[in-house]
Amino acid sequence: MCFRFNNRFVCLFFLRRSMADPLVARCLYSGKGYMIPLNQCMDYSELYEDIFGTFQFFPTDNVELQYSVPGCEVCFLRNDRDFQMLFCSARIHRLECVDISVLKIRGGCRRNCSVDSGSEVIDEDDYLGDAFRTEVHKTYLSDEWSSYIHNVGDKFHGAAELREKLRKYAIAVGFEFVFLRNDLDRIYAVCANVGTEGCDWHLCAFSSSANGCLYITELNNTHTCKGVVRTQKHKLLGSKVVKTCIAADVSFNLSLKPREIMSKFKSTYGFDISYKVALKAKHRAKEAIYGSDAETFSKLSWYKEAVLQSNPGSSFVLEVEPSTNRFQRLFIAYGGCVEGFQFCLPVLYVDGTFGKSIYKGQILSATGRNGNQGFYPLAICFCDSETDANWTFFFKHLKSLLEPQGRVVTFISDRGVGLLSAFDKVFGGNPHLFCYKHLVANLASKYRGKGNSKLIEDVKQKFFKVAYSSTQKEYCFNLRLLRAVGGADIIDPFLSELPVENWCRAFYTSCRYGIMANGIAESFNSWIAIERLMPVYCMLDQTRIKQMEMAGKRREEAERWTTELTPKMEERLKVQMEKSRRFSVHYSSPGVYEVRSDFSYVVNISDHACSCVKWQINCFPCPHGLATLQAASENVYNYIDKYFHVDMFKKSYSFPIHPITNVDMSSTDSASECILPPLAKRPPGRPRVKRFKSVGEVEKKLICCGHCGKMGTHNKLSCTEPLVQQ
Ligand SMILES: [Zn+2]
Ligand SMILES: [Zn+2]
Ligand SMILES: [Zn+2]
Repeated sequence: MCFRFNNRFVCLFFLRRSMADPLVARCLYSGKGYMIPLNQCMDYSELYEDIFGTFQFFPTDNVELQYSVPGCEVCFLRNDRDFQMLFCSARIHRLECVDISVLKIRGGCRRNCSVDSGSEVIDEDDYLGDAFRTEVHKTYLSDEWSSYIHNVGDKFHGAAELREKLRKYAIAVGFEFVFLRNDLDRIYAVCANVGTEGCDWHLCAFSSSANGCLYITELNNTHTCKGVVRTQKHKLLGSKVVKTCIAADVSFNLSLKPREIMSKFKSTYGFDISYKVALKAKHRAKEAIYGSDAETFSKLSWYKEAVLQSNPGSSFVLEVEPSTNRFQRLFIAYGGCVEGFQFCLPVLYVDGTFGKSIYKGQILSATGRNGNQGFYPLAICFCDSETDANWTFFFKHLKSLLEPQGRVVTFISDRGVGLLSAFDKVFGGNPHLFCYKHLVANLASKYRGKGNSKLIEDVKQKFFKVAYSSTQKEYCFNLRLLRAVGGADIIDPFLSELPVENWCRAFYTSCRYGIMANGIAESFNSWIAIERLMPVYCMLDQTRIKQMEMAGKRREEAERWTTELTPKMEERLKVQMEKSRRFSVHYSSPGVYEVRSDFSYVVNISDHACSCVKWQINCFPCPHGLATLQAASENVYNYIDKYFHVDMFKKSYSFPIHPITNVDMSSTDSASECILPPLAKRPPGRPRVKRFKSVGEVEKKLICCGHCGKMGTHNKLSCTEPLVQQ
């Protein structure tokens, strides 16, 4: 015979169970239980009626029976077939006793009054309109809590399990208790009304020295107090209980909001919890999954070894305070990424973003750009804040990776705090572009309080024009307009701080792929939005997994590409080709042409240059260039930057990030180099979500803070300096 059991087909040879084999069912309902012997001569309806009668249900009540066996938490017991399966399961698992949970699905009265079988019970809800009917159809996940505590002899795997189940039981049944003894090996709890009303409910449990499990040795499960009614709020319903209910949800979705937890808890468990409880429960669940923030620092030295061993060529620098062995900062770049970066565009976006664990943390990142306009994470640094020292540390190690590759890399940044001076120290000669979006925000802040929003909007537009100027002449022309609108008294000092080659396209000395903003860095930051919430070790580990998977996926994707260029660039070529159709091309000398429509342009195809300068700036032929290439019967693809070709893209992902196993983590003896968490904790209160302002975005009068004593733009109340524990 074959049955579908536990989603597997199990074939059984049916032997009639001899009557000598005892199978006992323990039926549990609302904290009460009774034993009933089962044999296969019985049928389902006999069992059902027995239970129905014993627990004194009303005829209108609908009762559902469930049992659990190892591997299957909830097995329904609804008909004769299920009943036979119960015997099979018991035989398979060699069980002598099976727990049957009794759940009431429908029914009004919860009082334990005896049923007068002669008189019909009238449920007034049957005659009421929809709006007036009390809806009790819903079953909550908390319904089974009332079956957690039932008999003397119940076994619990440790005090923690008993405490949790006792809390849930009390919540479900609706009373409060206090612990008189609450030790690992002994628990004694009494009803909270023992003093006021002399209620005699009590529970006593001892641990067995044989297996360490706790057994209930004494239980008086009847209350003589009045306080036994289930309410939607309960004192015992704290973050500890809620944590166990939401742990699975949190592990799927780390960014779950406390409000969402509250409403979810209400709908699935039928209880109200406060915002504070939801928030705390989320932290507890996070800690249960990932370990506490403090603990994860101790895993870092193991992780370093694991990364260096499994991913040759990686750079993993871990700095601790030598005297205290407390964590200071770390730098990490995987070998596969470093190798592959040589085949990406020679540009790097550098930016800092917040870590959101309880330790004050900043994640500095260097992100490249692949041939298909996607981002390419190269290196990250975890440190306490965006200081000159931390940026210098980051740039120094970044430089040691880039130097052997021998390419001049262009950097793009938002001129963040500490970044500028560190950059000049380490990467002095490298081109450095400022994100024009940040510049324009800085400029706009100068007009705050002076003039209306229309003026600011006008200044912004004029500034865009200046930044996007392609020639020096255009730059001078646009700058005149900007000064006329914005006023020379503000514009001139602002621009005097900015070297023009760092932000205006006309002055880019070498090819910089037309980059104007550090959008790539921001897409990287939002890509790790979830990982930023995690403690440091998990953040690194999860980011690595994400990087590993993304690289693998892109490698496979590229295998299917049949074009010469990557899809995004192929698309761009198509658009530019379409635009090139309106030009007429006139030959001058080898490689040099004049291209005409409304205006005329000089194109030099051997220099990859056009007098519109778009070809030089974007490293991609402009429509004039494309028109010329076609007229000269040249292969267009030979004139397109090598990094946009599919073969380069494939090479950039041909060095995989290797997986890491942690089976040996617990057996590694690294107590001697155990790293302690940093002293600086994030200050209390809601973590700030907004990023720090870049240089010049804020300009307030300096005041002395009464908390940290530093001169700054904050006072005692808004101080965010880390609290140093003594
Ligand atoms: Zn009581
Ligand atoms: Zn052109
Ligand atoms: Zn302060």
